[in-house]
Amino acid sequence: MPAGLRAPARRAAWLLALATCSGAACRTGPAAPPADAVYLNARVWTGEAAQPDAEALAVRDGRLVFVGDTAGARALAGPSTTIVDLAGRRVVPGFNDAHWHLPTRRSADLGDSRTVTEIARRLVEFARPLGPDQWVLGRSWGPSDFPANQPHRRFLDEALPGRKVLLTDRDGHQVLVSSAVLVLAGITRATPDPPNGRIVRDASGEPTGVLQEDAMGLARRLVPEQSADEVGQALRAELATAASYGLTSVQVASGSVSAGIEYEAYTAAERRGELPVRVRGAVPFERAVTPERLAGFVALRDRHAGGVLRFGIAKGMLDGTVDARTAAMLDPYVGHDDRGLPMWTAEDLTRAVAAYDRAGLQVELHAIGDRAIRLALDAYDHAARENGTTGRRHRVEHVEVPDPADLPRFAALGVLASTQAMFASPDSITLNNYAPLLGPARAARANAFRRFDEAGAVQAFGSDYPVFTMEVMRGIHAAVTRQLPEGTPAGGWYPEHRITVEAAVRHFTRDAAYAEFAETEKGTLAPGRLADFVVLSADIFAIAPERLPEVKAVLTVMGGRQTWSAPDGPGR
Ligand SMILES: [Zn+2]
Repeated sequence: MPAGLRAPARRAAWLLALATCSGAACRTGPAAPPADAVYLNARVWTGEAAQPDAEALAVRDGRLVFVGDTAGARALAGPSTTIVDLAGRRVVPGFNDAHWHLPTRRSADLGDSRTVTEIARRLVEFARPLGPDQWVLGRSWGPSDFPANQPHRRFLDEALPGRKVLLTDRDGHQVLVSSAVLVLAGITRATPDPPNGRIVRDASGEPTGVLQEDAMGLARRLVPEQSADEVGQALRAELATAASYGLTSVQVASGSVSAGIEYEAYTAAERRGELPVRVRGAVPFERAVTPERLAGFVALRDRHAGGVLRFGIAKGMLDGTVDARTAAMLDPYVGHDDRGLPMWTAEDLTRAVAAYDRAGLQVELHAIGDRAIRLALDAYDHAARENGTTGRRHRVEHVEVPDPADLPRFAALGVLASTQAMFASPDSITLNNYAPLLGPARAARANAFRRFDEAGAVQAFGSDYPVFTMEVMRGIHAAVTRQLPEGTPAGGWYPEHRITVEAAVRHFTRDAAYAEFAETEKGTLAPGRLADFVVLSADIFAIAPERLPEVKAVLTVMGGRQTWSAPDGPGR
C-alpha cells in the first residue's frame, strides 16, 4: 500500500520507532515498508545473551525485523499489518528436532501396550479394514510387553491366523514377524544369521520370529513398495503434527531422504510450498564411498542451500540398541556373554569418516554402547588430524551409555552429542528391560544429559520419532524430571542427571540449530533471524515441572507463516 494512504499519526509513530530501533530493523531505514505482522504483549524468551527478554516481535518477508517492546513493534505496523495480541503468553524460538524420522507406512501403534493381549487387540482392530492378503504392520513394541520378555511369533499367529504380520520394535532395531512371513522369507532353523544381523531362535533352535538389525531386511524386503504420492501424504500429515507441537525444524536421520521416492516426495512438497516445517535431510554413510558419490552428496547440499529443504550430513550406524542387546559395549550385558553387534571395524570406519570429512561433509553416527561411542570419537579424531580439518561439527547420535572417560572428548574434538530427551523417560521398557541388561553401574550413567552439559559438549535434543513421541513438551518434561507424566518413579530415575527447563529449551533450539550449521539463521530470536517461533499455553519457565506435559503450542510461526494455530489460540 502506498505510503500516502497511511494515517499520518500512525506514520509518524512508525518513523519515530525506526529512529530508536536496533539491528536489522534499523538498516531498513525509514523508507522500509511496514511489518507483515506484529506480535504484541508477550513474554519472549529470545535465547540471546544481549537481550534475553522481550515483549513483542515484528516480522517482514519471513524474518524478524524487530524484537523489543510492544510500543516499538506496534509502531512498525501499517494498515495491512496483521496484529496479534498474545495477552502475556510465553514465546520461545521454534523448536528444532535434531533427530527425527518419517514413518512412511501406515502401521498399528503398539506403544505402551504392556501386554500381549493388548498388542493382539490393537492388531486385530488395525487389520479389520485390510484385505486378507495385505500386510499388517505395527510399531513400537518392547520386549517387556511379552511374557518373560520373550517376544514370539505364536502370539501373532493366534491373533491373526495365517496373516503376514511385521511389527517393528520401539527402537527400530528388531522386528517380530508371524509364521507366514518366515515361510515367505524362506527362513528356517537351517538359515544362517546374515552379517550384522541375528535370527533369534528358541531353545530348540527354531526361529522365534524376531529378526534383529540386518536380519530385518530378510522380511522387510517382501513388503510391497510405496509410491511417492503415499510418502508425500505421510510427510504432509507428520509435519502438520510436528507444527502443532511447536516444531519449526526437523533433521531427518535417514539417508533414504536423499534419493528415490522419498526425495521425490520431499522436493515435490517443497516446490508446492507444502512443507510447514524446515527439513534437513541426510545422505547415506557408505563403507566403500567413491569420490563421485561424495561429489554428488556435496552437489545435493549446494543445490538445496537456503531452502526449506536442506542437506549436508551423512547418517551412519555403528551399533544397535540396548533393548535388543545389539548396542556395542566394552563389557558384556548382564546375564549374557555377548557385547552387542558392532557394525563396523575401526579400520573401515576410520577410512570412511576421513573420506566424508575430506569432502567437507558433516557425519552423524548412531552409537549407543560405550564401545561404539568410542569408535566414533576415535574416527572423528583421526579424520581431523589426517585431513587437517576443523569445525566439521560431526555428531554422535543417541550416545546413551558413554564411558565417563570419553565425555571430555566431545568438547575437545568439537563433536556434538545428539541426545534424545525422551530416552530418559523411565517407562516400563526402560525399567524392566533396558536397565537390567546394563546393570546398575552402567544404567546409572545412561542418558546423563547433565554430564554432557558439565563436560562442555554442545548437546542437541531430538526425539528419534517414531521411536518416541515428537511432542517437545514430553521431551522437556523427561529431561527435567526423569519421571513419567504420572510422577513415577518417585524422585526421578537417577535424578542427579536432571537439567533445567532453560537448558532443555536451549538444546531444542539454539543447540539443534548449531548441529545443522544454522545458528546464525534460527534457534534464537533477534532482528535478522528467520521468523520461527512458538507461542505456548503456559509459561514453562514458571510452572511446576510436573505440569510441563500439559503445555501446548497455541501458535507456531515458521518463516513468518502461521503453520499451526490451536482452536482456542490467540486471535488476530
Ligand atoms: Zn534414529
